[in-house]
Amino acid sequence: MSGVPRDDERQVSMSIIIRNDDVNPNTNVTELMEMYRIIEEAVPNAEIWTVWSVINRKLATSNLYPDGDLPIKEKPLDYFYRTANQMGLPLEGGRYGKICSHGMLHICHKDMPIELQEMSIVTSCFLLNTKVFVPPFSESDKNTEAVCNKFGIDLVKREDWMPLDYKDFDPSHKKWYFHSWRYTPDKLREKFAHACERVG
Ligand SMILES: [Zn+2]
Repeated sequence: MSGVPRDDERQVSMSIIIRNDDVNPNTNVTELMEMYRIIEEAVPNAEIWTVWSVINRKLATSNLYPDGDLPIKEKPLDYFYRTANQMGLPLEGGRYGKICSHGMLHICHKDMPIELQEMSIVTSCFLLNTKVFVPPFSESDKNTEAVCNKFGIDLVKREDWMPLDYKDFDPSHKKWYFHSWRYTPDKLREKFAHACERVG
């Protein structure tokens, strides 16, 4: 596609969302703020969303659980309960953009009884003072939808979101997500250096 963009296309390019999942009490906030500055410089109109997980395993890295790369959803649910040894909310003064909930624990909410989903979704949303829930592993079901509808919470579904971790950033696409624990600031800068060339 080439030529002058129509007004509606310009509108889309002005409202890119870059969502950062799995932010948690282990997250190195100094590095995170540097990464957000990199994004703001590369994509000046981007809306940054910080998706927070409340309870998890205390680690020396910014990840939520040991075992290296997610997904670890094959683990039995009690793995997440037994390994949890810290909880925390975003530090005051951090510029996190829009805060969203990733649930109380990074467990697959899909197929859980509605009462358990409600406890995790609603408690975490009230703790974080947000009305947006991003399900761990992007997995949700009718019960997740029912809870979110009941409490006026926006449920973020897998559809339309592109994984920045696996794809080159393309400013013509509006919704991107990534995991800052997979990056150093330099690695993220490299990712967006490509984008800056494209934006011109
Ligand atoms: Zn996650």
